[in-house]
Amino acid sequence: MRRKPVNLKAYRLPAVRTGMGNVPLFTEIFHACCNKLPGISYLLSLNIICMLAKYSIFILAFSLIAFAGCSQSQNQSAKINPKKMNLKALTPDEARVIVNKGTEAPFTGKYDKFSDAGTYVCKRCGTPLYRSTDKFDAHCGWPAFDDEIPGAVKRIPDADGMRTEIECAACGAHLGHVFRGEGLTPKDTRHCVNSISLDFVPGGSTAATDTAVFAGGCFWGVEYYMKKIAGVVSTQVGYTGGKTDHPDYKQVCSGTTGHYEAIEVVFDPAKTSYEAVAKMFFETHDPTQWNHQGPDWGDQYRSAVFYRNEAQKAVTEKLIAELKTKGFKVVTEVLPAKRFWKAEDYHQDYYNHKGSTPYCHGYVKRF
Ligand SMILES: [Zn+2]
Repeated sequence: MRRKPVNLKAYRLPAVRTGMGNVPLFTEIFHACCNKLPGISYLLSLNIICMLAKYSIFILAFSLIAFAGCSQSQNQSAKINPKKMNLKALTPDEARVIVNKGTEAPFTGKYDKFSDAGTYVCKRCGTPLYRSTDKFDAHCGWPAFDDEIPGAVKRIPDADGMRTEIECAACGAHLGHVFRGEGLTPKDTRHCVNSISLDFVPGGSTAATDTAVFAGGCFWGVEYYMKKIAGVVSTQVGYTGGKTDHPDYKQVCSGTTGHYEAIEVVFDPAKTSYEAVAKMFFETHDPTQWNHQGPDWGDQYRSAVFYRNEAQKAVTEKLIAELKTKGFKVVTEVLPAKRFWKAEDYHQDYYNHKGSTPYCHGYVKRF
């Protein structure tokens, strides 16, 4: 469902006026009323009513300010388009925290006192966010982590003007807040996360991997360099981006399928990051060549990044912008990932099996 645009002005103006201008007026009227009832104004009950009336004005004002701010920050995160992602349906309790930025009651979440080894992933989109090795007991009632998986968590100013809110960088799910300067761990950082925003994947680091998909000329050469990155768990070459199901090499070379020669890189986010892997991609093929690399010409050799989530797209666009400011006329396409068709076995890990080195790819430092 499309979100209705929020008219911030409409919320903010009455909130400020009520909070700043009208409070003295209301309280004066209440006190005046109390004072004009001789013999009753000294009664405790009436004093309590006066106090309640006075503070309810403040509570109302703060609620309106918070609501206006909250609407604003929801508007900011609307830049991420979760509709395009494969998101899990949420229960009303999950939606209250994940979508409407609520907070679960302290000491009630399932991961507050929980110390199994594994990876915490986003409840809504499944992106790995935190490692169990970074979890610590902050005695605050919510799971606490002093580090995140690189690039997985987005920080935004909270509507309260003081705290820093944290979201899943991939889908914008509300996670909680991050605090610094408390001195609780050597990293001096506490991600205070709602349990309900998380799912847990038990096991070692291989249980939580991330996948990158690139096309940059002959897939033999791209795979050769991707396998050299520490933290890459596995790779496979294949075809993607086109329209033909179960394509074979001959069909792809004929130029009729629309497919790219591509590679799927599975990596451990605890050891490397999407950004590091993408940098290697941009430094081992020539991103300024449209449909060829070295001697290989043809549509299947186009340069492209197939992003699997909005975070990958953002990292890719950032790197391309960086290269452009350095004068590289980058033609790499940035496309949403489609079904990946594994290529024939004899294409897999080609140079390793052959014991030779690429003829059309080489490392060139560009960042
Ligand atoms: Zn997410």
